[in-house]
Amino acid sequence: FSGKPDVNLFTQEVKGVKVSDIMTHPVVVSEETSVYDAIVQLFLEDVGTIFVVSDGLLMGVVSRKDFLKSALGGSDINKVPVGMIMTRKPNIITVTGEEDALIAAEKIMHHEVDSLPVVEKTIDDGKEQLRVIGKISKSSLTRLLVDLCRGGL
Ligand code: ADP
Repeated sequence: FSGKPDVNLFTQEVKGVKVSDIMTHPVVVSEETSVYDAIVQLFLEDVGTIFVVSDGLLMGVVSRKDFLKSALGGSDINKVPVGMIMTRKPNIITVTGEEDALIAAEKIMHHEVDSLPVVEKTIDDGKEQLRVIGKISKSSLTRLLVDLCRGGL
């Protein structure tokens, strides 16, 4: 399989692609946003994951399963803020724009998540902060596969 010329060419092309080449626009909300309003955003923006930010800095991630868990739990989703149900820092798997798209794909597979925030690392008050600048998802990687095979990239 890997000895075929076409496959070698494909591998080389994939290895040249950076996260910043294929990232998409992230959908973000603040920690105070109600679970109800965040679910509305999920539908309006047609995404499965929303990033939670404060002044553009990454605080957490909230996905379909988190919303379902919250709804099944019977709490009032109009009152509960997303900050209560999100997966929070430092347990967030991220990538930077300079990393290879292949590394992002490996992180998604290894950690069994649908998407990763693309971040820019900044130092604020001596503390490392992560500014959200994009998103990489299984869809971005599927698009990359199709674009490469169809010669679009
Ligand atoms: P879904 O909920 O649609 O199955 P995921 O598989 O991505 O989506 O999410 C499963 C769990 O992992 C959720 O609790 C979510 O908050 C968390 N999660 C999603 N993306 C990340 C990430 N990049 N880093 C850490 N945790 C994440």
